[in-house]
Amino acid sequence: MDIILLGPPGAGKGTQAQRLVAEHAMRQLSTGDMLRAAVKGATPVGLEAKAVMERGELVSDEIVSALIDAELTAMGPDTGAIFDGYPRTAAQAASLDEILARHGRKLDHVIELEVNEDALVERITGRFTCARCGAGYHDVFNRPKVDGVCDVCGSTEFKRRPDDNAETVRTRMAEYRAKTAPILPLYEARGIVSRVDGMGAIEEVTAAIDGILG
Ligand code: ADP
Ligand code: ADP
Ligand code: ZN
Repeated sequence: MDIILLGPPGAGKGTQAQRLVAEHAMRQLSTGDMLRAAVKGATPVGLEAKAVMERGELVSDEIVSALIDAELTAMGPDTGAIFDGYPRTAAQAASLDEILARHGRKLDHVIELEVNEDALVERITGRFTCARCGAGYHDVFNRPKVDGVCDVCGSTEFKRRPDDNAETVRTRMAEYRAKTAPILPLYEARGIVSRVDGMGAIEEVTAAIDGILG
């Protein structure tokens, strides 16, 4: 099964993808995580993407679609894909169709996390992740069980993203509204869109998604 998690920055896509991966035989394909790895490794893609990401704008369609294509090739056909943060434009949606067809895969669900935009700045400015395993946390809404220790791997090192500041978030939300939200009707016409209330507690959102996946 292949699914897309769609929603503005801070909607909970990464959080839910990590939880689904733990429950199902699926893999999280986050173009944001792939790009951050490229920036960290100072690869050609990373060098091109760094400043764009810091401004909160979108990296080129060609770059992100190539990253997704390569991951699907590495994954093989038996693992389901959770697309997290991809596609973000109409051109990326068209590329994804082409890529999935070439890999003999098909999209089963597009799950839109519906959130109140006013809540997103607080979610994003409180976000941090484990530096070792990438598990996601929040200063207020999703703290580690033991302060300063990752629930998943026990690491005591955490990190915050340079683009998780109130100013950049505004640009990222504007990008979402202008370029990403308009791809929903395309999937609606195929009858594969489900909406989930992303304002509930993390466990409630997961339960709603599980209900859709069946
Ligand atoms: P996205 O991947 O959509 O940008 P994240 O999953 O990283 O969003 O979530 C953004 C922040 O909000 C994280 O710090 C996360 O722990 C927190 N968060 C995620 N889902 C919820 C929720 N349902 N309620 C409260 N906080 C949440
Ligand atoms: P969030 O879930 O908080 O929106 P991501 O980690 O998905 O953040 O993305 C971080 C940044 O990486 C984006 O602001 C953008 O610059 C870049 N990026 C990630 N995915 C894509 C994509 N599919 N297309 C273009 N740019 C992307
Ligand atoms: Zn960890």
